Parts: sequence; C-alpha cells; structure tokens
Amino acid sequence: MTLVVGVDIGNSTTEACAAEIGEDGAIRYLSEALTRTSGVKGTTENVAGVVDVVRRALTAAGRECGELDAVLVNEATPVISGLAMETITETIITESTMIGHNPETPGGVGLGMGSTVPFADLPGCVAGSAVICVIGAGVDFEDAAAGINAATARGVKVTGAVVHADDANLIANRLRHPIPIVDEVTLVEKVPLDMPAAVEVAEQGHAIRTLSNSYGIATVFELDAEQTRVIAPVARALVGNRSAVVVRTPAGDVTDRRIPAGSLTLIGEKTRHTVTMDAGAAHIMETARRVAPLADAVGEPGTHVGGMLARVRDTMSELTAMPVGEVRIRDVLAADTFVPQRVTGGLAGEFALENAVALAAMVRTSKGPMKLLAAELRDALGVDVLIAGVEADMAVLGALTTPGTDRPVAILDLGGGSTDAAVAADGTDIHSVHMAGAGDLVTKLIDSELGLDDLDLAEEIKKFPLAKAESFFHLRLEDGTVRFFDDPLPADTFARVVVLTDTGLHPIPTRHGVERIRQVRREAKRRVFVVNALRALERVAPGGNIRQIDFVVALGGSALDFEIPDMIADSLAEYGIVCGTGNVRGCQGPRNAVATGLVAGYALSTTYAGPVAVGTQSCAPRP
Ligand code: ADP
Ligand code: MG
Repeated sequence: MTLVVGVDIGNSTTEACAAEIGEDGAIRYLSEALTRTSGVKGTTENVAGVVDVVRRALTAAGRECGELDAVLVNEATPVISGLAMETITETIITESTMIGHNPETPGGVGLGMGSTVPFADLPGCVAGSAVICVIGAGVDFEDAAAGINAATARGVKVTGAVVHADDANLIANRLRHPIPIVDEVTLVEKVPLDMPAAVEVAEQGHAIRTLSNSYGIATVFELDAEQTRVIAPVARALVGNRSAVVVRTPAGDVTDRRIPAGSLTLIGEKTRHTVTMDAGAAHIMETARRVAPLADAVGEPGTHVGGMLARVRDTMSELTAMPVGEVRIRDVLAADTFVPQRVTGGLAGEFALENAVALAAMVRTSKGPMKLLAAELRDALGVDVLIAGVEADMAVLGALTTPGTDRPVAILDLGGGSTDAAVAADGTDIHSVHMAGAGDLVTKLIDSELGLDDLDLAEEIKKFPLAKAESFFHLRLEDGTVRFFDDPLPADTFARVVVLTDTGLHPIPTRHGVERIRQVRREAKRRVFVVNALRALERVAPGGNIRQIDFVVALGGSALDFEIPDMIADSLAEYGIVCGTGNVRGCQGPRNAVATGLVAGYALSTTYAGPVAVGTQSCAPRP
C-alpha cells in the first residue's frame, strides 16, 4: 500500500486528495481538503497553503504525516493574470450646462420650462414671464414656498425650481400650484442665470420622458438638427432618471468625447497586429484570433493597457527571478464594459456611464520556480514531492471519475484567473490550453459596472441570487416569487435590493433595481465564460473544429456557479455538444479534479500492467 496526497495549486484555491494505492494499482480515495492559495501560483509562496491542505487531508483520513509516501503536485507554471480597464468615452460639460441629476426625493411632478432666476430676484419678475427659480443655500423652505406662491399670485409663471438643500418635498407641499422641483444640487450657485432651462420630475416609480429623449430636448429648446446631435449625449445620460434639469447656455455644451485610448500590439508566431482599445472587445478578440497562437503582447506606454501589461511582467519577473525582457504575455481576453464616472463639469455630482474595455492578460513561465517549490515542500513536509503532471491533463483524469463519463472527453476548468480546456481522445494524448480571464474578472466587471468599489460584495453578487425586501416580513426574489418570514428582516435591508448569501441578507448600496443588477451579473458572466469556453474548446478541438467534440465536463470553482454552467451548456448546444458539471469521484462536484487526477495518474504510471480502472470513491452522493 502506498499513501499519497495529490495537491492542486490553483490561482485561487489549493486542493488536496489523499488516497491509498494498492500493489495492483487499485485506488482507495480517503479524504480531501482545500484552502486559499498562499501567494502566486507556482512559486515558493505556496508552501504554507500546501502544507496546510496536506495536513488537513491526512487528519481527515485518520493518518499521520509519517505514514505518507509521497506528495504529488501539479506542474503549476506560474500564471499571473492582470486586469486593466481602459475608459474610452468621457462626458464633459463645458461652461455650465447642467445635466442629469437623480436625487432620491424630487418634489412635485411634470415638466417646467423657463428662464433661470435666483430666488431673491423673484419679486422683480414681470407678470406673464416663465421662470425656473434657483434656490441657493440658506433659504428656508417655508420662505421659499411663500416666495414662489407670492410670485405665482402676481401672474409670474414659476414652472419649476432647482434647490440646494434636500427640501424639494417640503417646498412642493406648501405650493398652491405644484411644480416640479429638483433638489440636492450641490453647486447651485454655478447654475447659469437668465438662461432657458427645463426641469422634469416623473411620478414615483417612473422615469422622465422628455429630457431623456433627444427630440424632447430639441422641442423644449427649439434646436435644429445640428444642435440636436450635439445635445444627444445629454439625453442618453438622463435615461432612467426620475428627475433632471437641463440648462441651455450659449457656449455650454455637453460632449461625448472619445478618449484616445491605448493600443495593444498582439504578436503571434507568424504575424503581428496593433489594435486600439477603443475598437472594442469584439475587434480585439478577432485580432487575437488572427495572430493566434499568441507569443507576446505589448501595450502602448503611458496608457492603462501599457501600464497593466508592464505591471504583470514586473510581478512575474520579481517572483521568478526571470529578466523582465523574457516574460511573455501568452493570452489576453478583452470584454466590453462600462463604468459610472463623475461627469467633468457637472454641478450636482452627476455620473455618466462611460464605455470601457476590460482586459485580462496572462503570462506563463518555465518550470524553474516549480522545482524550487517542490524542494521547499520536501523540507517542510519531510516526504518525497513529485511534480506529477500538467494541470489540464490531470483535470481530465479527475473528470473521468465522474460517473457516466468516458474518453473521448473534453474538460473546461473554470477557475479564478484562467479558463483551461483539455481534450482527451482514445489514446493517451491530451491537448490543453490556458486562457486569460475567469471568475475574478467577472467579479471585477460586476464591481465596476455597478460602481460598488467593494470586491467582496461584488463576489457575493456573483455567487448568490438577488431579492428585494418589500416589507419587514417578505422578500421578492429575483425570479418573482415571494418568501415570507416570521421575524422581521434586519432594518438595513428594508426597501433595498439584497443579495441572499449563505451568511444572511446583505444590502446592496446602489440605486439600481433587481433587474438591472441581475442583467449586469449575467452579462459579465457571459462575456467572460461563454467567450472563453468557446475559444478554449476551439483551440483544443481536433482540427480546430469545435463540432468534433461531443462531451464537455465543466470543472473548477466557477463551475459551482448557479448560472455559468447553464450559460456555457446553452451556447455549446448549438454545436451539438453535451456539457454538464463534473462530479469528481461521484461525490466532489466540480471540485478536486486536478488533485484526484494527480493520484489517478500516479497509480497508472507506477503500476501500469494493462488498463486500470480509475476508481470511484464510495461516499454519499451530492445533494
Ligand atoms: P483556481 O483553480 O484558479 O485556483 P478555483 O477552481 O478555486 O480556481 O475557482 C475560483 C473561482 O471560483 C473564483 O473566481 C470564485 O469566485 C469562484 N467560485 C467559488 N465558489 C463559487 C460559487 N459557489 N459560485 C460561483 N463561483 C464560485
Ligand atoms: Mg484550478
């Protein structure tokens, strides 16, 4: 009997599988353990994590470290993925045109048009003139309402108001003739005076209709076609708001400028191409496909892409003592995204959604550092450490312990930093690839698109479904069903969109509704995993023809996701491929494939005397 522990060092997770191998090669799987990978995969920083999982797997199996014959680690060449976001549009407000502002609590309802007048000048307005009253800081809401009522009584058409304080409702409730009021305009003193303006407030639960429509704005301000073209970004920025103010100033302008974004040079083995980031993800990926296989990539110095690729190279060279000049970028994944950004020149902290391109890049190095890691592990554990196989190849062996699978089979290992694929035909040959971009990129996209600035929350939004706390005693889940509670929900969740995590309800501090957040979440997953699954399988498929693949087993942490495997299965169904989530050893779900494969591969290599069954652990099936 030989006692071994297979250890898979991933970007995110280090997993172990302890097993006993008989003289005849029969494997008895004993236990498993997992922990967060310490440091960058494939470097000596991993020792702590590996020692931890080996000890825990042995304890779970009721064995001692001294009984151990060997630790088998995967050939984990360091893979560093870097992420960069290149914003390619920018909304700028020149002079003082004011756009979209979405306070929680506008007052009144409707559309008002008129010339902007400071509150103090209301008494001087002539009867019959249409005005929008601008109420600065320090004006009491009772005085404001009284002033507007007095002006209206004299025949001045006060059609709307813009207020500094959070007073819109207090003022609106005191008016004899209700008007739309937008409040919380922080820089109210900068609102240009004596200029045509429009204020629009929609009913609760509705969005504005006129100022979010280019032709609506054109009608209000009597614009010609050229002016309408210029104003179009304003309308776009206002879509979905409940209230807005637009002031038209002579030189005022809101422009939608394309920022000169960096360019990316993709160097293939035979050809090279340069693409600008603002060409968009589809074009970048198409170019990457044309130069494939990628030998290296360089970003334009002084841009985000340039900075990111340089950072990835530096980190890698630092960790592996390889000269920077020798570090090569082996894959890139681009995804279109958008980022809420404060509008330059805005008066009330307005945000506009700017287009951006996110890029994940990956570098791989030689096996050098892995040997170092194995040596340090040998010292730390006092047992033999074998570098026992390439990750994706081992994943195939592990995947084959899933009941109902057999060669030929392809695997998709959906991890944190990379998406790997491998195909095993009838022979012993296994062909594998590693693609940049996986779970971490999805989290990053969710974080930036929702403007959360909180990666832990973004990770939860990725992993768990949403709900809205509609009362203290019930939740409306994202699928429309309702869940009731006997005890009141936590006060901070009330009327909020929450994520239903395994540790309770966590409110999401944004104004986005359930639908919007759900859409962002699903789109992020699709743009990373569906895109990567297809290009990874295309690369490993016999003859590059994805239709040659019949069965795909999804593995890895991201295969635990509640929608990613289904999305991939849907997109692969088009090619006649059956895709399901693996159940390693009939009980591990998509986890532990590489660790299990290391053990299976070891058993095959040490005892080979004809075909050996890979074996299935006897344990309770997963629910
Ligand atoms: P690696 O092999 O790169 O170490 P893993 O296979 O451990 O990575 O996968 C890590 C990824 O899996 C992370 O992006 C993490 O967010 C994701 N993940 C882990 N558990 C879940 C889950 N229950 N649902 C969705 N994603 C998950
Ligand atoms: Mg992995």
